[in-house]
Amino acid sequence: MFGKLDKPRPPTAPGRLSHIVRLAVIATTVAMGGVAIAVVATPSSAAACNGYVGLTFDDGPTGSTSALLSVLRNNGVRATMFNVGQNVQNNRSAAQAQVSAGMWIGNHSWNHAHMTSMSQSQMQSDLSQTNSAIQSATGVRPQLFRPPYGETNSTLQSVASSLGLRQVIWDVDSQDWNGASVSQIVSNASRLQAGQVILMHDGIQNTRDAIPQIMANLTSRNLCPGMISPSTGRAVAPDGSTPPTTPPSGNPTTPPPGGGCSTSVTPGTVWGDRYNTTVTVSGANSWTVVVAVTAPQSITTTWSGNASLSNNNTVLTMRSNGSGNAFGFTTMMNGNSGARPQVRSCTAG
Ligand SMILES: [Zn+2]
Repeated sequence: MFGKLDKPRPPTAPGRLSHIVRLAVIATTVAMGGVAIAVVATPSSAAACNGYVGLTFDDGPTGSTSALLSVLRNNGVRATMFNVGQNVQNNRSAAQAQVSAGMWIGNHSWNHAHMTSMSQSQMQSDLSQTNSAIQSATGVRPQLFRPPYGETNSTLQSVASSLGLRQVIWDVDSQDWNGASVSQIVSNASRLQAGQVILMHDGIQNTRDAIPQIMANLTSRNLCPGMISPSTGRAVAPDGSTPPTTPPSGNPTTPPPGGGCSTSVTPGTVWGDRYNTTVTVSGANSWTVVVAVTAPQSITTTWSGNASLSNNNTVLTMRSNGSGNAFGFTTMMNGNSGARPQVRSCTAG
């Protein structure tokens, strides 16, 4: 199984591997410093996303795709799934479920071969067969391609490009394919910076278990999960806009899957130990909004919606209940008086 996962290519790219290791040491030190600052100094306002990161899950769909989607949904996360064509053909409903859950779908080859040893025509048929399987199962034509094992060359890139696929490797390797523990995966993900992309995999329990902590860390740094731009390969807002806080512009006739509404956050009364927040939804009368606060803060009371709380009451999933398009909640500071909630997603319907 692990033989099919993406590993960096030690035989062909020793320089790259040592570069990754060296970066990891530096970045971990910086990240640990960053976490300490976030808890002690507390940012004054954290309601907006100051940047986006691309969470990616390769090699699916698998027998545990539904478990992965459930964790992602519970944490208000939209991610990019780099699917293997053969797996899509064998599990079309799981691929459909990915799209229904608001995920973006990329091409990860037909059967995870080492593509750099293929001829140009073999590359061409491999990628187009995969595109067809994905499009047939989900109705969505992939715009992103991740070569298996991250192995690529100029021929493969030009074949991908001729099929309308943007090649996306990764900035951060979670090492989940390499047996990393939950805390190691969380620590690796804490190196993510705005615009960057992290490699993870469908089908690994530790990866699923790490997601709540990965999201808590991103939230504490005002980073939000976004989509990977097919034009730049960088992480951008889920609606595709590049400036993080700019509302959708232009004339999107079909809202992105899982989107279709937007929110504005209004700060409410602040007491010594807690504060209120109001979230107003526009663009839909029936909606689901996921909001997160930064631990140790926790949400205690909610109103004007059907609420469910998870992850030690740091994540609130609120569904419209007919009492209007604004809902509110009270957050206990628990020692962090500076952080403010972050809306992770708004889903119409
Ligand atoms: Zn892979």
